[in-house]
Amino acid sequence: MFSCWVCMDKGHVFYRQRVRGNDYEFVAYCDKCDAGRSQHYDGRILDKKHERNPYYTPPISQILDANEIGRENKEKYKKDHSEASNLEMLKKKEVLSRPW
Ligand SMILES: [Zn+2]
Repeated sequence: MFSCWVCMDKGHVFYRQRVRGNDYEFVAYCDKCDAGRSQHYDGRILDKKHERNPYYTPPISQILDANEIGRENKEKYKKDHSEASNLEMLKKKEVLSRPW
């Protein structure tokens, strides 16, 4: 199980956005857990002035509904998980029902 369903403990979330007719994949950090907050990158506030840049990862909840993502991930996981365990059961049954 994951302690954070929004990013599945990865600390970041990929999302797609349409820019001028093309789909691009972006990454946002998860602002719902510690794993995500430690991955937060903001080039604008780096200590060394010469390393500063305009790039930064936005928090996911600023872009998408983080609670919604968490809910979807949880449901998908539960669904995948139950399918996988059903398959395991079928396999076991098949083994047990073999005549030899
Ligand atoms: Zn998270």
